[in-house]
Amino acid sequence: MISVAIDGPSGAGKSTIARAVAGSLHYLYIDTGALYRSVGLFALRKGAEPTDREAVAKLLPEVSLSLKHVDGVQRVFLNGEDVSEAIRTPEVSKAASGVSAHPEVRALLLETQRSLARENNVLMDGRDIGTVVLPNATVKIFLTASAEKRAERRFKEYQQKGIPTTFETVLQDVEKRDYADSHREIAPLKQAEDAVLLDTSDMTLEESEQAVRQIILDAQHGQKE
Ligand code: C5P
Repeated sequence: MISVAIDGPSGAGKSTIARAVAGSLHYLYIDTGALYRSVGLFALRKGAEPTDREAVAKLLPEVSLSLKHVDGVQRVFLNGEDVSEAIRTPEVSKAASGVSAHPEVRALLLETQRSLARENNVLMDGRDIGTVVLPNATVKIFLTASAEKRAERRFKEYQQKGIPTTFETVLQDVEKRDYADSHREIAPLKQAEDAVLLDTSDMTLEESEQAVRQIILDAQHGQKE
């Protein structure tokens, strides 16, 4: 099986790029952030503070997550309910970052992620795919962009969806989330030693996709030699 790990901070364009590249290479695209977001959503619905380890850990036995792919598009189900849209709000982004720091949450999701990679050729995006989830991935890419560029992209996305916010708020959220994700004790966001670094600050989406596709093709080519 071939596995491609794409890690990087929020708003670097990981999911858009990964989805497109996976589609063209016929790999299963797995957005692991959706799993953390679903746990975050569950905590919010249950009135638990996402950063409260004990409160969140207590809820986990009630959480059942599954991914389904329809025409290459991933849908995530929380206890049977399709929450693919409900997890895309600023509140859930924050809650996901909160719950993702708890070892119990990461342990629960680790096996889900690994079993998907055992059974399919995958292109998986997240924060710790190359470092923790799939340390032997065929190809590892660390995709990043400046905080301003990432906030700009996310702000546009919220505007298009009619979610009221300001650029300053989005930038602050991006910076806070970067800090929390890179400084947590367990599985922090960091570039794997053997990952290829790709900075998309000055690249269009098409250029970024092309660059990612090329890195994957080069790595596969190198493997065959
Ligand atoms: O990628 P996305 O923005 O949807 O991820 C939401 C949150 O889930 C991130 O801020 C991060 O805290 C967490 N996450 C993680 N490990 C992953 C994917 C996401 O900790 N592999």
